[in-house]
Amino acid sequence: MVIEKNRVVSIDYKLVDDDGDLIDSSEEGEPLVYLHGNGNIIPGLEKHLEGKKQGDAVACVLNPVDGYGERDESLVFTVGKDEFEGSEVDVGMQFEAHGENGAQIVTVVSVEGDEVKVDANHPLAGEKLHFDVKVVDVREASAEELEHGHVHGAHGHHHHDDCDCDGDDCDCEDGSCEHHNH
Ligand code: ZN
Repeated sequence: MVIEKNRVVSIDYKLVDDDGDLIDSSEEGEPLVYLHGNGNIIPGLEKHLEGKKQGDAVACVLNPVDGYGERDESLVFTVGKDEFEGSEVDVGMQFEAHGENGAQIVTVVSVEGDEVKVDANHPLAGEKLHFDVKVVDVREASAEELEHGHVHGAHGHHHHDDCDCDGDDCDCEDGSCEHHNH
């Protein structure tokens, strides 16, 4: 079975940056499982996986535009320390900010007196992404998975914005629903 839109794909992957430093990878024996063609992983990688099948290896390099975008320096700005409502603020810490475009992760770049400089770019913005992927499995999605637009079950990523369950009494078969966004 080949990878195409609305099939469930399991991949082992390794992601390194231009210097060969590891950014992210799947755990040994725990592949990433996602619903292909539904925006669950970055589109640039989906393009390279399209048409591949179980056992295939894919090595590709994505430019920022196909990955997490170019850096936008206007997303680096200064806020008052009081905005952090008493939390400890230190360089490198990440906070969730709620702005016009919904929740956004900002990273603290510097702290000077009461002024905190933050960067709202995606941490991988501007990075070239080197992927090393092995296709572990390809299967048909269930009707429910298609309806939700994501995978259910072991190792699937859940974001249940439109699932009105509390986790315990969800009608997703395996009851693995959780309310969280990522
Ligand atoms: Zn669901």
